[in-house]
Amino acid sequence: MQIELAIPDVAMLFTQPPMSGSSVRQALVSSSESLVSGATVCCDSTFAPEIVFVVGDTQFEGNHVSCWRLTGSDWWGALAMDRTTGVDAWTSEWPVGSMISAALAANEAFKFVMRRLPLRGQADRVFFEESQSCNWDFGAVHVPEEGVDLGMVDVISAGAICQAALYALMRFPNVRMSGRIFDDDLTGASNLNRNMLSSVADIGLLKVQVVARCCSAKLRLKPIAVRFPGDSCKIGQLARRVLVGVDDIPSRWEVQRHAPGWIAVSGTSHFGVSSSAHRPDEPCCGCLHPVDDPVGANPIPTVSFVSFWAGLAMTVRLLRDALASSYSANRQHLWLTPLRMDLPHAGMWLPVAPRRDCPAHCLASRVL
Ligand SMILES: [Zn+2]
Repeated sequence: MQIELAIPDVAMLFTQPPMSGSSVRQALVSSSESLVSGATVCCDSTFAPEIVFVVGDTQFEGNHVSCWRLTGSDWWGALAMDRTTGVDAWTSEWPVGSMISAALAANEAFKFVMRRLPLRGQADRVFFEESQSCNWDFGAVHVPEEGVDLGMVDVISAGAICQAALYALMRFPNVRMSGRIFDDDLTGASNLNRNMLSSVADIGLLKVQVVARCCSAKLRLKPIAVRFPGDSCKIGQLARRVLVGVDDIPSRWEVQRHAPGWIAVSGTSHFGVSSSAHRPDEPCCGCLHPVDDPVGANPIPTVSFVSFWAGLAMTVRLLRDALASSYSANRQHLWLTPLRMDLPHAGMWLPVAPRRDCPAHCLASRVL
């Protein structure tokens, strides 16, 4: 992947880990080949791109390649094949809409490559068709100027989903959070495509150390190199808010059984994203995911944009909980199919029903 930037040299407003530099252009160029091996970022005006992304109301004349325009607001983001009229400059203050729009753009770059490859199952071809126009809205919520205090938050897993959640959280200027992050895994080369806070230099290092160090300028996270639930003496009581980014379903039940307060769970399955939040009095993640995956199921390959959506949805839920603006019960679960956000039902908000056979034996299941 090679990227050419044609952007003004705008100063950074505040630290944007894992990027470093005094200007946006400098930070992006210095990320060349450090985030993913072989992925270059440059400012070469002789570059001949195969696809183009245009930001806001920027004027652009390009007749020979596919071109999409990124627009949006604080909590809403959109992508559309290039239009030059009726588009607005980016003026939003909060960063969720811009992350939505960027993630929609990443889909199109991925699909552009996938359309050139032979597919084992022709039915999958629908996932990789070009989107003419798509958007997503997480719903606006008021954020006070002085920022958001999230208090103590424990993070279960330092993998792709939790790294995406923390990456998204750090785009907010005034967020305060301390807590712990649990994981015993090391950063591998194959993680780099989706681990938003990791670079080539981090291969072989503990994921919890990589994440805690990367977040240290904005968040206070203590790295715990243990796979949850591990040794309960080392872990102690979980925080009142917990983020869970593990795809292993019994591990989610275990967190739910130990959690004294609110938990958010995000996971990925093939090209889909599942995201939910659970207060102690609500149907829990065991009610939502009551059956474990079959033993011996093939490892599911994951890719950056799916994990990113899972993390972004989790961060929005965390901020809303801290701002006492949680989604209503009929939005307790979100299922997204990010590759085709142009189709109806690509994003579905759903309630969670309590189950008598809940594997976590939650309060809601016991009063049935
Ligand atoms: Zn339950």
